[in-house]
Amino acid sequence: MRRTLHVALSFLLFLFAVLPAAFAETKASDIEEKKKEIKERDKQILQIEREKKLTLEEKRELMKQLNDMKSRLASLNEQVYRTEQKLNKSERRLQELEKRIAEREALLKNRLRFLYQRGEMYYLETLLDSDSFGDFLSRLDLVRKLIRADRRLLDAHKEDHKQAEAEKASIERDLKERKRLAAEAERLHKRLVKEYKQYEKQLADLEKKQEHLEEINERERKEVRRLIAQKMKEAAEKDKQQAEAKDGKFLWPVKGGIITSEYGYRRNPVTGAYKLHEGIDIGAPLGTAIRAVADGKVIESRPASGYGYIVVVDHGGGVSTLYAHVYPQDVTVSIGQSVSRGQVIAAVGNNGQSTGPHLHLEVIKDGRTVDPKPYFR
Ligand SMILES: [Zn+2]
Repeated sequence: MRRTLHVALSFLLFLFAVLPAAFAETKASDIEEKKKEIKERDKQILQIEREKKLTLEEKRELMKQLNDMKSRLASLNEQVYRTEQKLNKSERRLQELEKRIAEREALLKNRLRFLYQRGEMYYLETLLDSDSFGDFLSRLDLVRKLIRADRRLLDAHKEDHKQAEAEKASIERDLKERKRLAAEAERLHKRLVKEYKQYEKQLADLEKKQEHLEEINERERKEVRRLIAQKMKEAAEKDKQQAEAKDGKFLWPVKGGIITSEYGYRRNPVTGAYKLHEGIDIGAPLGTAIRAVADGKVIESRPASGYGYIVVVDHGGGVSTLYAHVYPQDVTVSIGQSVSRGQVIAAVGNNGQSTGPHLHLEVIKDGRTVDPKPYFR
């Protein structure tokens, strides 16, 4: 929020900058602030890395538990299946036994009926035919023997049936218990799956958070690099400007000459009128060389009222210099000629309204005279 405000404010300043140079200056404190923020985010990223590592370890542990639970669940389901098979078999055996019992009972019933019916008949027959009596007795004995055998078999079947029923009940109890265990394992498995998914989500969240911070930091690192480069460029620009200012400084045009009259309002020593003195007067012996204060081009070389004769050099950028009170025969340059800084262009004279040999020097900036003194500092 604070930074957003700062950015907005900077933008406004940019739009309405009165002193663009002052605004454009990249602040070292801003760069430091950004670096600090990047470092802080790096710390957060490291913390997230640690959290991720821990979560991953927990997730792995959980995966192990989950796999164990999976195989346990599979084993329990297998047991349930086998027990069900066993139960089916037991039921089939019971049915088989019930069938055998029914068959045996039917057989026994038939024999008994036979014994009853035939017994009576044989009995009557043997009363009529005594020869057959012995035969009848032996046959009757056989049937009785068979009936006894049937009864033993039937008892054995019934005993088997009883055991089979007990066995079936036991299998059913076993099955119930195994199903309970399987259901419990299923519940645990579901819970572990849910927990595992939570860990996965947590990891994804951490990953996202880290990516976000890394993105910001990448952007901010670029910005810091850009700001540093900009600052360096600004510093170089400043150095260049300072160097240029040094180079651009005017050369003192008259060796040994001293200012005898400043730029500004004064009473004219000749006319006595109170008006602006449009240049500085540099006193020096007659004939002392006058040098161009800077590189330029001669744009005027002519007589001028009150000034005797003048030479004007244009330095570009709207700045020109005017040299007055010279004698035309001392002028060594002509209009249109390029001159370099320090080149002799004329000599100190006493031409025109002058109370002694001196150079009247004017600096004209954008068509108006300005105080030449700052140009020599
Ligand atoms: Zn003057």
